[in-house]
Parts: sequence; C-alpha cells; structure tokens
Amino acid sequence: MSSIRLKKSDKPFVITGPCSAETEEQMMLTAKQLHEHVNFNLLRAGIWKPRTRPDSFAGVGEMGLSWLVEAGKSIGKPTATEVANSKHVEAVLKAGVDVMWIGARTTANPFAVQEIADALKGVDVPVLIKNPINPDLDLWIGAFERLDNAGVKQLGAIHRGFSVYKPIHYRNIPSWEIPIRLTEKIPGVFLINDPSHIAGKSDFVKEVAQKAMDLNFDGLMIEAHCKPDDAWSDKDQQLTPAQLAQLFLALILRSADVSVLNQDSIHLIREKIAELDDQMFEIVSSRMRLCEDLGVYKREHNLTILQPEHWRNTLAKRIEKKEGYQLSEDFIQKLMDAIHQESIQHQMNVMNRE
Ligand code: PEP
Ligand code: MN
Repeated sequence: MSSIRLKKSDKPFVITGPCSAETEEQMMLTAKQLHEHVNFNLLRAGIWKPRTRPDSFAGVGEMGLSWLVEAGKSIGKPTATEVANSKHVEAVLKAGVDVMWIGARTTANPFAVQEIADALKGVDVPVLIKNPINPDLDLWIGAFERLDNAGVKQLGAIHRGFSVYKPIHYRNIPSWEIPIRLTEKIPGVFLINDPSHIAGKSDFVKEVAQKAMDLNFDGLMIEAHCKPDDAWSDKDQQLTPAQLAQLFLALILRSADVSVLNQDSIHLIREKIAELDDQMFEIVSSRMRLCEDLGVYKREHNLTILQPEHWRNTLAKRIEKKEGYQLSEDFIQKLMDAIHQESIQHQMNVMNRE
C-alpha cells in the first residue's frame, strides 16, 4: 500500500523539483538545496517531456527515474513524475516512484488516459490529474472517472491553466472558475495549483500561488532548479530553492474555517448579501418577463430578435457608468452578455410558440 496520503490539512501540500531530470548531479544538487531551504512533501521531476516542438528537449527517459528516486532517498522525500502511456506507468512502478501525474496534453486524450487507467488496475498509487490544455471541464472529470473505474483510490487534481493562441500576460490562462467548478462537481477533491506553468515567468509565480491559496487550494506544485538559467526545459519559470524559500515566507495563508471565530459580523454581512441576491434574482426574473413581452411584440410585427445597434447602445450605456458602479468593464460585459443570452432564449420561446 502506498504510504503517501493526499489529504487536506491546514498546511499546503507542496510538490517541488525541476521541470525535468537532466543529469544525476542536477537532481542530487536540486534535492539537497530544496531540503536545506524549504519544507515540502514530494520531489518532482519530468522524465518524459511532451514538448510542443520536436527539436525541444524531450526528457532523458527511463534512466532518469533512478536519479529521481535516489535524489528523493538522499533527503528522505517521496517522489513524483509525469506519465503519458502504459509503458511509462510500468517503468515508474518498477523504479519505485511514489506518485504519478498525468500531464495536461495527456488528459486531453481519452485513449491515453484509458491506457494509463488500464495499466494502473490493482495498483495502489496516488495519481494527480492535470487539467487538459483546453478549458473543458468534462474532459478533466472524464479522466477522473476513467481512473476511478480502474480502482485507483487516491486521486487529485492539478490546475495548470489553459493554452491560449494569442500571447497573454501569463503563459497559460488560469480560468479559475474551472477548478472551482471541479470542486463543485467532485466535492472534496484534492486540488493542487501549478503556478509555474500558469505564470511561465519566475517573477509571476508568487502572485499566482497566493491567489490559489486565497481560493483554498490544497497545495502547490512549483518548479525549482539548482540553476534555472541553465535548465534544459522551462528555464524562464523555474525558481532556485532559495527563491522558493522567499516565496513561502511571503505567502499569506488564510483559513477557510470560520467556526473558530466570533461569527456575528460575518453572518450579518452574509445575510445582507443573501438579501441582495434575492432582490437581484427577482429583478432579473422581472426583466425576463418584460423580454417575453418584447418577444410577443417582435413576433406580431415580424421583427428579428436581435437588433445589433440597439444592443450595442444598451451595453455601451452600462459600460459608460463603470466608474460609478465600481465594476470592471470586463465584468459588465460578461454580466450583460449572460443576461442577453437568457433574454434571447426567453424571446425565442415566445417567438416560436405555436
Ligand atoms: C510539467 O509539469 O513539467 C508539465 C509538462 O506540465 P503540463 O502538463 O502542465 O504542461
Ligand atoms: Mn515544466
């Protein structure tokens, strides 16, 4: 039975180590420095790297597994690596790596996930599932189901953000609503954040990690390397073990448990919020009734539901007032889009009624 437990606690569960195992010395030195500087739970290293371009470093392959395991042993830490097919699973089990994770490109491929699940039948090893590179919650959940069906008992999720075509501030867009949704669909899921692959730059890792902590994630997977500038993969986003120690010092950990506090004032605020939510939904509901009246009018006069100019003006009027509302333009746009979609649906129902 595996000795690792993916369990919620008041301290974040920390996975760290280099993006890739490069040499035996690099693994040993990184492990030693990490041990000196930070408290952590699992030593990571990528052995097979699914690279976007064929000329990138694709990992050292099977020989790196023993470097990872030995580096872990030298500091008394269990280890973790990425698997992308059944051969990887077999090699990892044989080498005695303690935890596996399924990479983002692999989660996006149900055949590969099924192959991994089949290879894990009857094995008690914890598996962490990274989100697929595309923002598809069902695909992420599907991977959980495949592993669960294979009898894998300890499962967890790693949120590493989603690929984008156009360059953004970060390497990957976090879309925090997706991991939050995951916790609604799989209550109690053990959820880790990977700020390194979201940020893409070492300078941004801390702010992403802080956000994850503020959203009550269970832990962090952060890439660290003894010499990030010389790293063979993901050099821009890796931290030195000393920088990682700084990050943890600066990280503010807050509690999600209000039961220990005097709750009068938080109750009062929450009651007021619930009251406003009631009112807000009553108003939205009345608005939709008016939209149905509009639908009747448009049907009788043979008008299209969408009149683009009118909609543009309606939206612009709200955005103009963003300062007064103290709301971001992005939020106003999203809220109005959601209301508009629902309004169109209500008008459609009326329009096409027999
Ligand atoms: C990694 O953790 O090094 C990695 C390749 O991550 P991802 O699957 O998130 O790209
Ligand atoms: Mn990496």
